[in-house]
Amino acid sequence: MTRLDLFADVVALTRALVDIPSESGHEARLADAVEAALAALPHLTVERIGHSVVARTDLGHPERVLIAGHLDTVPAAGNLPSRLDGGLLHGLGACDMKGGVAVALRLAATVPAPAARDVTYVFYECEEVEGDRNGLGVIAAARPELLAADLAILMEPSDAGVEAGCQGVLSADITVRGERAHTARSWMGVNAAHRAAAVLQRLADHTPQRVVIDGLEYREGLNAVAVRAGVAGNVVPDECVITVNSRFAPSRSAQEAEAYVRDLFPGHDVEVTEVVTGALPGLGQEAVASLVAVLGVAPRPKLGWTDVARFAALGVPALNYGPGDPVLAHTAGEYVPVAQLHACEERLRSWLSASP
Ligand SMILES: [Zn+2]
Repeated sequence: MTRLDLFADVVALTRALVDIPSESGHEARLADAVEAALAALPHLTVERIGHSVVARTDLGHPERVLIAGHLDTVPAAGNLPSRLDGGLLHGLGACDMKGGVAVALRLAATVPAPAARDVTYVFYECEEVEGDRNGLGVIAAARPELLAADLAILMEPSDAGVEAGCQGVLSADITVRGERAHTARSWMGVNAAHRAAAVLQRLADHTPQRVVIDGLEYREGLNAVAVRAGVAGNVVPDECVITVNSRFAPSRSAQEAEAYVRDLFPGHDVEVTEVVTGALPGLGQEAVASLVAVLGVAPRPKLGWTDVARFAALGVPALNYGPGDPVLAHTAGEYVPVAQLHACEERLRSWLSASP
């Protein structure tokens, strides 16, 4: 088994993590190495759930913070092994999100007695695949008490900025009906594809809302992402299905998001196929505010859905804070700036070490 040296600097540790391949579903080797390295630290209680690893301090502090990162990566794209090029560390997962995992592992090893809050470190499997395999979801179902915390920090790449909350996602199929006919006698039918134009026009005319929460602006979106109709080259189609994807502010419940879309298309057959709520930024909460103050960066709203919403569902405020530009995630050329690795580690260490 590869030994991870958590006392090496964060750059060497990130390289070591990148050089243990861990495409989703194949995290065993990396999880073994992480588990063994953490189990060697006497100040942590370590548990393994599948290929996820949970390590906790238990100093009896009144508050607890959870620091999490996923161990898996998307498939390789000719970007292994790791390569250090000046101030940039290249390689599969360097940005998403082994740099963040390395920062969390360094903190686990080098802050044995956090001053104000106990810490739960979670390194989990299968974030990059279908939601029902997600390691955090598996832990939440099997051992929810392990995720109990006053604040969760997800070390996803955020360019070393704070990305708070996240928007919800809704998918719906709008079905427009007509009447089938031979195109040689098209006046005997009703063309569903033509009738769908009214729905598409309504989407084109729609102005998505901008919702301000805790001073952050969440910009919503409502888009047709697929239009399906057609029976044959000589048939007037009797059905057209428009798939709509909505991104909605975290202040809306699933029911509100659904009602919003239904109200836009009265008289139409609207079938909601998926809806997941977002997460409120929670900047007013004491634990979040103190962290944001120490990190010294202005929070930004997270527009895409992330695992912070899983914590929100558990009642734990959560934010994204990690090294790496999120735009580089899943690209063959992904890298993480060395300066951001150091900055994230130092800022979080000073927050964990600060007296209450
Ligand atoms: Zn990620």
